[in-house]
Amino acid sequence: MSRTHKITLIPGDGIGPEVSNAVVRILEAAGAATGVAFDWERSAAGAEAYEKYGEYIPKELYASIERNRVALKGPVTTPIGGGFKSINVTLRKKFDLFANFRPIRNLPGLETHYPGVDLIIVRENTEGSYVGLEFEVVPGVVQSIKVITEKASTRISEFAFEYSRKMGRKKVNTVHKANIMKMSDGLFLDCSRKVAARYPEIGYSETIIDNTCMQLVTNPYQFDVLLMENLYGDIISDLCAAFVGGLGLVPGANLGTECAIFEAVHGSAPDIAGKDLANPTALLQSAVLMLHHINESETADRVQQALENVYQEGKTLTKDVGGNSGTMAFADAVVAAMETPVTA
Ligand code: ATP
Repeated sequence: MSRTHKITLIPGDGIGPEVSNAVVRILEAAGAATGVAFDWERSAAGAEAYEKYGEYIPKELYASIERNRVALKGPVTTPIGGGFKSINVTLRKKFDLFANFRPIRNLPGLETHYPGVDLIIVRENTEGSYVGLEFEVVPGVVQSIKVITEKASTRISEFAFEYSRKMGRKKVNTVHKANIMKMSDGLFLDCSRKVAARYPEIGYSETIIDNTCMQLVTNPYQFDVLLMENLYGDIISDLCAAFVGGLGLVPGANLGTECAIFEAVHGSAPDIAGKDLANPTALLQSAVLMLHHINESETADRVQQALENVYQEGKTLTKDVGGNSGTMAFADAVVAAMETPVTA
């Protein structure tokens, strides 16, 4: 008899539906082989949801996440400049998904400028410059408020150190700009230091955000776990994605105490939407994180192993990583790799 997991699925827009379909196909094949079934509760969000239901985040979507406590989410476009508030940011705040966890690792067989990278980005997910507090003071003068609290800074620091202790990671480095933002980043730094003092077995260092960018590009191997506030985490994630082959590859998890939403680092990539060019690897690796989260590690390992075999073989890759296969052809190759016995 199979175990069934109810999971909220937000396909998203842009390349979202293509990568979501590919990932669902792979997960169902893996689940069929390991006795795991998925009951997907699908929901639209963003502009598409507004057209259908008159709401950017339908009430049923909130209810579904509250019920299931786990969601797999494709990218949802955030309008630039004006328009509605980011759906991603709204969901993270609504469910208090305070920790954004993004592992940056190379896939076997995929040549990059930086082989053997193994970095963890821990991004504070609920405040900083993403609180959406912007005002026009007088015409021509706009104020944007960055909020840093002791509570959120301490809990994200504790998350980074607890994760490091559990996974045997050696060092946490806090990224900041406390030389300029002395009070806000100063408080973040102060909280990190206090938490670091409680974990003497784990190394601790600090780097200023601009220098961090240069240090990363010069030698990413000097870092292990990178801890930072919201905006810096957004920027550093895209930078680090380039180490391992680009945005098509890097997964993410938004974790809270009650719920979790798993989503890729990339956005909706409208330039390649609907063209069968999107790489579903980032969402697939996010789904692998999700499978571990729901204690389905055997299924997770099966998917990850098949994915790595496809990269190792290098014959059925998407265009962004140098191949010429489409999104679904890539998914089919991962499914076929699951059916091939793995040779040690
Ligand atoms: P956001 O700010 O919404 O996170 P972004 O600025 O990170 O978005 P993306 O939409 O992620 O931008 O995409 C940037 C570019 O990277 C795209 O134009 C596309 O060419 C490429 N890209 C992103 N995701 C993928 C993917 N899954 N497969 C292939 N290419 C991708």
